[in-house]
Amino acid sequence: MTGTEDDNPSETLAERKMRFLFALRSRGVTDTRVLTAMEMVDRGLFVRGIFAGRAYEDMPLPIACGQTISQPSVVGLMTQALNVTPRDTVLEVGTGSGYQAAILAQLARRVYTVDRYRRLVREATDLFRQLDITNITAIAADGSFGLPEQAPFDRILVTAAAEDPPGPLLEQLKPGGIMVLPVGQSDTVQSLIKVTRTSRGFDYEELRPVRFVPLVEGLGSE
Ligand code: SAH
Repeated sequence: MTGTEDDNPSETLAERKMRFLFALRSRGVTDTRVLTAMEMVDRGLFVRGIFAGRAYEDMPLPIACGQTISQPSVVGLMTQALNVTPRDTVLEVGTGSGYQAAILAQLARRVYTVDRYRRLVREATDLFRQLDITNITAIAADGSFGLPEQAPFDRILVTAAAEDPPGPLLEQLKPGGIMVLPVGQSDTVQSLIKVTRTSRGFDYEELRPVRFVPLVEGLGSE
C-alpha cells in the first residue's frame, strides 16, 4: 500500500480502522482476544503532532524523548506470543507512548509498566486516566532491574532491545511464566525471543527478526 493511498482524505476514520485490523490479520495476528483488544484501544490517541494522521498505518512512528511507538503488527505478534490470561500480572519494560500497555490492560488483571523517561510515564498515565483504564501502574525506573517490589510476574514484555535477557527479569518471572523480548545489538538485526520458565530452568524460542530501540541504563533526562 502506498503512502498516497494511506493519506486518502476521502477515507473515513471507520474505514481506516477497518484497514488497520485487516493489516494486522494479514501479518499473522490471528488471536481473537488480541485483535479485540487492539480494536478497543485507539492508536490515534497515542501518536501526537505531525505523525498523528499516520496512526492507523502499520509502521513505527516517532514519539517524545526520541523514542518510537512500535509497529502495530509487531505489537500484535508480541502480545499474541505472550499468551496473556485474565488472571495475569504483567510487567512491561518500555512504556513509550503507553499503547502496548493499554492493550495488555485489556487482557490482564494488572499491568505494571516502566520507562526511563519520566515525561513518557507522566503522559501515558494521563492517557490511561482519560481512557478510564484503571489497572495500569506506570513507573519511572530503569526496567532492566525489573520491579522487585511487585515481583514475581506471570508475564514480562520488554519493548527495547538488550544484548541478552536481563538477569533480574528472568528472576522475576514466575514458574510457568513467559517473557517476550527483542535481543541483539542495537542497529543490527535483533531477534524477538520467547522465554518460558519451567520447573528446571528456562526454555528459549526464537520468533522473528525485529528492530527496537536499545534498552539503555539509568533514568533519562526528561
Ligand atoms: N511499548 C512502547 C514503545 C516502546 S519504545 C509503546 O507502546 O509505545 C522503547 C521504550 O523503552 C522507550 O520509551 C525507552 O525510553 C524505553 N527504555 C529504554 N531503556 C529502558 C530501561 N532501561 N528501562 C525502562 N525503559 C527503557
